[in-house]
Amino acid sequence: MNNRILALVLSAAASLPASAVTITIVNNDGAGEGLNDTTAVAALPSNPATTLGAQRLAVLQQAANQWGALLEGNIEIRVNAQFNPLTCSGTSGVLGSAGATTIHQNFANAPVANRWYPPALANQLAGADVNGATAEITSQYNVTLDSGTCINGNAGWYYTLSETDPSPTNRTPLLPVAFHELAHGLGFQTFTSSSTGAPNGGFFAIWDNFLTDAVTGTNWASMASDATRQASAISDPNLIWTGPITTAALPDFLRGQPQIQITAPAGIATTENAQAAAFGPLPPQTGISGEIVASVDTGGTSALDGCEPLTNGAAIAGKIALLVRGNCNFTVKVKNAQNAGAIAALVDNNAAGLPGMAGSDPTITIPSFGITQALGNNIRAQGATTVTGNLFFGATLAGTQALAVAPFTRHMRMNAPNPVQPGSSVSHFTVDAFPNLLMEPSINSNLFDDVDLSIPLFRDIGWQVPVSNVLFANGFE
Ligand SMILES: [Zn+2]
Repeated sequence: MNNRILALVLSAAASLPASAVTITIVNNDGAGEGLNDTTAVAALPSNPATTLGAQRLAVLQQAANQWGALLEGNIEIRVNAQFNPLTCSGTSGVLGSAGATTIHQNFANAPVANRWYPPALANQLAGADVNGATAEITSQYNVTLDSGTCINGNAGWYYTLSETDPSPTNRTPLLPVAFHELAHGLGFQTFTSSSTGAPNGGFFAIWDNFLTDAVTGTNWASMASDATRQASAISDPNLIWTGPITTAALPDFLRGQPQIQITAPAGIATTENAQAAAFGPLPPQTGISGEIVASVDTGGTSALDGCEPLTNGAAIAGKIALLVRGNCNFTVKVKNAQNAGAIAALVDNNAAGLPGMAGSDPTITIPSFGITQALGNNIRAQGATTVTGNLFFGATLAGTQALAVAPFTRHMRMNAPNPVQPGSSVSHFTVDAFPNLLMEPSINSNLFDDVDLSIPLFRDIGWQVPVSNVLFANGFE
């Protein structure tokens, strides 16, 4: 891989990119609306602007700056941006959309002939502005969300510039959405129709060289017909990404199914699926083991729910705390266990299935899993008998699929629902990845600056990355 990258750099030596690329948001809204809305708003801890339009623009530019710092290039990328009324109903809505403004092939230094590239990437590879004065990316965001009438219970966007400035629970932070959408414009998309399988103007996108059917091992650019590609687009879980840099990076960013193993006493020994929390760190790949101790708190609705400070801290310290679901947020419980010295926490459900374990609290530093009500009851029923367990991950990386033909390598799955969802199918990672990835079809509001597998994928399609970011992880080690 290193040799390949080196060769690419040498062949393009005349335009050797030296550093981060400049990405500029171009305000395309009209006077007084969208990004020019003069409505006075209170400054946020991370966003000092005091008009609605200026706060919005600051978030979009922050997302642009984050991507710019991760990618190499000498040619400025310009992003047309607007806030417009987009689809929304009581139950769902389009938050935003973005894409390349034009498509280009066979430009100077094009890595693969007769393949469409987005102009943001083509320009860096060519060392020249192949699309002239036209902006490289177009983007829009749903202004209707701020009316509070779009999507039940959603009170609108939150214009924080930082994850450390937490969004109110009924607001949607714009930054993760803008960060996701910009990635589409930078090249996280095919230009081939996911509905019909037809290549654009008779030519394939560079994307299609890596979009592959796991059963036959054939990529989209090599498939015999549009009908074959059309079938592939809805073939979940058999639509995979075979770019070698992404494939090599999978273990750095993905884990297997979260699991809880009870190792003692023998009478309740078991290994079951668990639900990893959306907050706090994940356990290490090797798992985290210890004695499991049921928490006791100062009371409130229940002394077992961990909603108040724990009173059995001496027993909890250095152990895995067990807290029953309900009466307060998951983050409150786990924080109380952490304050008592627990090394990890389990929350047992108060209904069937696994608890959702949603929430956000940057001050939580211990891992936590949700487990079933039945298992929680079994553990509590042991009384004074020591219970030991292990929070760990299954061996198969979630969201991957193995080729059914040699070399049988596991690869990242791509979004391939049936029926096809134009704009979503094919140009996102699968929704089954764990942990969640930036480029899944639904935005995860906690992904403010994590690019995970997007950087390896961008390198597969031709982007160069500053050396310091080649192994840029937000990964596990
Ligand atoms: Zn998307």
